[in-house]
Amino acid sequence: MITIDGSEGEGGGQVLRYAAALSLLTGEAFTIANIRGGRAKPGLMRQHVTALEAAAAIGGAECSGLAVGSTELTFRPGSVAPGEYHFAIGTAGSTALVVQTVLVPLMLADAPSRLVIEGGTHAASAPPFEFLSDTLLPVLARMGPRLSISLERHGFFPRGGGRIVLEIAPAPLAPIDCRVRGAFKGGKVEALVAGIPSDIADRELKTARKVLADWPDEAFIPVHLPAERGPGNALLITAECEHVTEVMSAFGQIGVPAERLAKTAAKRMAGYLASGAFAGPFLQDQLLLPFACAKGGAFTTVKLSEHTRTAAALITRFTGRGFAFSESGDGKWLVEVQ
Ligand code: ATP
Repeated sequence: MITIDGSEGEGGGQVLRYAAALSLLTGEAFTIANIRGGRAKPGLMRQHVTALEAAAAIGGAECSGLAVGSTELTFRPGSVAPGEYHFAIGTAGSTALVVQTVLVPLMLADAPSRLVIEGGTHAASAPPFEFLSDTLLPVLARMGPRLSISLERHGFFPRGGGRIVLEIAPAPLAPIDCRVRGAFKGGKVEALVAGIPSDIADRELKTARKVLADWPDEAFIPVHLPAERGPGNALLITAECEHVTEVMSAFGQIGVPAERLAKTAAKRMAGYLASGAFAGPFLQDQLLLPFACAKGGAFTTVKLSEHTRTAAALITRFTGRGFAFSESGDGKWLVEVQ
């Protein structure tokens, strides 16, 4: 039984999701106290409960302490059962973070799976759908499994109601080398608006254009979604390189000017492009678990995040496998599985 203090390191929901995934992959039970102890409002939120319920469902696990607000739980894994699953978060909690919990165990299962997940698809502090479809899954598919994902309906905060479908054809994970991202092939900036004034999209695009000044006019695209999918707003900035496509995002929030959120996301993209690294600030922590399961591989990335350091320490606790992190001097980091 592995004992985890959920307030250590990054101290958020990611510790819990990675622990559940690692437990299913290794067969090791775990108990966690001080869940999300690093957050202003600790304890499980609805989306964490669904992520753990999903892990328990696909892994025949017993899980005690699983309730909104709970700060302690114990998870005893069974065996992973691929198949058809439907998980509904019931809030705008992130569908992508449910995927983050169950994806690697199902990629290594002995038969295909099809998941329907309902909740948020474009909300703060989580990967938007396009990050899964364009950034993460294509990298993972290079390791062996066949993965396809579709967005059936957008889900914005606070209403949720989004729906994604993910199909997984498993395969052993092969180590891959992601040191080089290759030539920049082109970029686009999409401002999604649903049921809110369209000038918000125009203001976001205008701000992003100032930062990404060498991108052509036609790269800045307002996307008007049906009002009944809203209210909602997301800015998606996509850069396609030869070996990876990165998506930086920002999400409309009451009280945050459109200009400010667009500037943050555009600067993040500009920083990523200037770095020459393969993985941006969010892809880096999400590559660690599949790379550890492949027992090898390497990638370059931008400055290491606390999420990455926390995930790496947790992976080492469950698997004994470590990572070597080295800074190359120009601000770029190399991550290698040991
Ligand atoms: P908490 O509320 O405790 O912070 P959480 O469950 O929402 O919990 P975190 O522990 O912060 O989440 O983990 C968020 C995960 O989402 C990380 O894996 C991070 O890389 C990823 N993520 C966050 N924002 C983005 C983004 N804009 N694009 C892609 N991935 C993202």
